[in-house]
Amino acid sequence: MGNRVNLAFLLCLLLISGVMFAQEKNTFTWRVGQFEVNLLAESQGEGNQNILIGATPDMMKEWAPEGKFPNAMNAFLVKTPDKVILVDAGLGNKLFENMRSLGVEADQVDIIILTHMHGDHIGGLIKDGKVMFPKAEIYLPQPEYDYWMSDSKFERQQNVIRLYKDRLHLFMPGKLGQQASDLIPGFKAYAAYGHTPGHTIYMLESANDRMLIWGDLTHAMALQMPYPQVAVTYDVNPGDAIESRKQVLKYVSENNIPIAGMHIAYPAMGKISVNNKGGYIFHPMQ
Ligand SMILES: [Zn+2]
Repeated sequence: MGNRVNLAFLLCLLLISGVMFAQEKNTFTWRVGQFEVNLLAESQGEGNQNILIGATPDMMKEWAPEGKFPNAMNAFLVKTPDKVILVDAGLGNKLFENMRSLGVEADQVDIIILTHMHGDHIGGLIKDGKVMFPKAEIYLPQPEYDYWMSDSKFERQQNVIRLYKDRLHLFMPGKLGQQASDLIPGFKAYAAYGHTPGHTIYMLESANDRMLIWGDLTHAMALQMPYPQVAVTYDVNPGDAIESRKQVLKYVSENNIPIAGMHIAYPAMGKISVNNKGGYIFHPMQ
């Protein structure tokens, strides 16, 4: 009898730890040609309706009846045949632990590409006033640099710029759908301004395969896929952010290009198709 109770107890424990393990999964890997794109989830949870601009009661009723929607904060680590590339640096919470689980230490990161400089994208770059990536070259869109340098109140961003200044590369992103040269091999940069004045998205291309890492193009997939006209309070220019979102959604759905996003719930990657109401549907990777 005692043995049976113990067995049941053990099974329960296994089940519970299995569920907990599943909930705490912070990495996910997708191959793009010769590239390996890895999710590094910094935090996972829910977003609240009070960040939404332009969401009507009807929209909320259908897509987020409890006023909440899945959300996350992510960075991505891309391993190419010869480089280790970080796309954004998250909050700096689980970043290093997640990277280590993929066999990468901070001093092995060759390149860091930034979509923009909000705190949850540059948090891992500095700790206690020191640079966390001793060897990485940093790529930052010029309009993003100009914006954060324009006012001394942006102390945090200016600190990052100052500490990494010897390894900082400024560039102008291209226009989606037009010819662009590689920023670094296999990576093209495109303007998706609005969320911030220099918010930039990155198209990865390897062996005829593609993926778009779209940064903060969305913060509330549940609402912003069916209704791309819904903005968020974090957008510096909500109107421009809406235009960028519509343009990118049209492009990736027409061209069947998988996407990855910094605020998409696990696994943070998937494909986009159109619905029959002028909006979109997100299909997460399995
Ligand atoms: Zn942001």
